Amino acid sequence: MHKGLIVQKFGGSSVANVERIQNVAKRVTSYRKNRFDLVVVVSALGDTTDELIELAAQINTEPSEREMDMLLSTGEQISVALLAMAIHKLGYEAISFTGAQVGIITDTSHTRARIVKINGDRIKEELKKGKIVIVAGFQGMTLNQDITTLGRGGSDLTAVALAKELKANACEIYTDVEGIYTTDPRIEPKAKKIKEVTYDEMLEMASLGAQVMQARSIEVAKKFDVPIHVRSSFLDKPGTMIIKEVKRMEDVLVSGITLNKNEAKITICDVPDKPGIAAKIFNELSSSGVSVDMIVQNVSHIRSTDISFTINKAELPKTIKIVKKAAKNIEAGEVLKDEDIARVSIVGVGMKSHSGVAAKMFETLAHNKINIEMISTSDISISCIIQKKFAETAVRSLHEKFGLGK
Ligand code: ASP
Ligand code: MG
Repeated sequence: MHKGLIVQKFGGSSVANVERIQNVAKRVTSYRKNRFDLVVVVSALGDTTDELIELAAQINTEPSEREMDMLLSTGEQISVALLAMAIHKLGYEAISFTGAQVGIITDTSHTRARIVKINGDRIKEELKKGKIVIVAGFQGMTLNQDITTLGRGGSDLTAVALAKELKANACEIYTDVEGIYTTDPRIEPKAKKIKEVTYDEMLEMASLGAQVMQARSIEVAKKFDVPIHVRSSFLDKPGTMIIKEVKRMEDVLVSGITLNKNEAKITICDVPDKPGIAAKIFNELSSSGVSVDMIVQNVSHIRSTDISFTINKAELPKTIKIVKKAAKNIEAGEVLKDEDIARVSIVGVGMKSHSGVAAKMFETLAHNKINIEMISTSDISISCIIQKKFAETAVRSLHEKFGLGK
């Protein structure tokens, strides 16, 4: 009788208002008509989470993380109840739950908790009764019954974890774009929707600035091999499959181009060139919770050298303070900062087995008279830091050069 179980997740923009909630209810029930069991994960309505954070800041600029979780989890609780009501209105049975109610147990790191285990019994029980089960995304509970949240964008993680736990036949992430694109279509209108992308490529893209899915949710999907279908909640067409391996034509070197403008560059000048100095600086930073991204140390000709690195812009004031102090201690020179930078990256599993991809990237930038300030590479990506004003030109010319618009 039953065709299988589908986990569907709808993001904030898909449930931003009454009409959209009603649309989600229609879509969900259409799958129900086709005899699928359904577990539906929803995010908070529209920008609710941002608004709640804003509200908290007005009361206390350093709110307790436990209370933040208590506050933010209310967003998703509103969505699940409203969606259940919308589904009832269409004549179907549905029941909504918080993360805690369906046994999503997490560790105690409030605002970025990790899922420890899921007790899926309650969900299974309700599915057996023929109900559509609606679960609040982004939240769980500690063993002490404190409410936790799973980090921004965490509803994706809820969906992937439930799909794994319930051995779902499919995990669908509904969003306001049609899938994963070769680059941001707002920058390059010739960007194409990608049919299939690997977990590794998607992870690179997510961490390099493509904001379609939460990076941690993809890590979990990769670990347990949960195929994900990212698709539009407004249109009825296939989106992008995120899977383990993709069979592509041989000559696909690059699958996508990403752009990140949220980084800042710091340079410490005239750092004494002797062992232990880099360790000193970066230890200070890591123990203050600043995560450093790209690092470049120039070759020294005169017993001192410049070290540059990038960080998230939001951490700039804190980082400057720490680095200035450290620079003084190690008798280095000036500390410079540059916020007008951008990181452009090319991503693709195809580059693993090909040489010359980096050269092609550098040539393309050079041809457009764009200076490269820093470079970093991984197995399947190459990133360059350039001046921010060239960011869009860089993306478009790389997109063209690697044949992604075709
Ligand atoms: N509402 C949460 C956020 O905005 C979780 C999510 O959208 O997935 O981060
Ligand atoms: Mg969201």
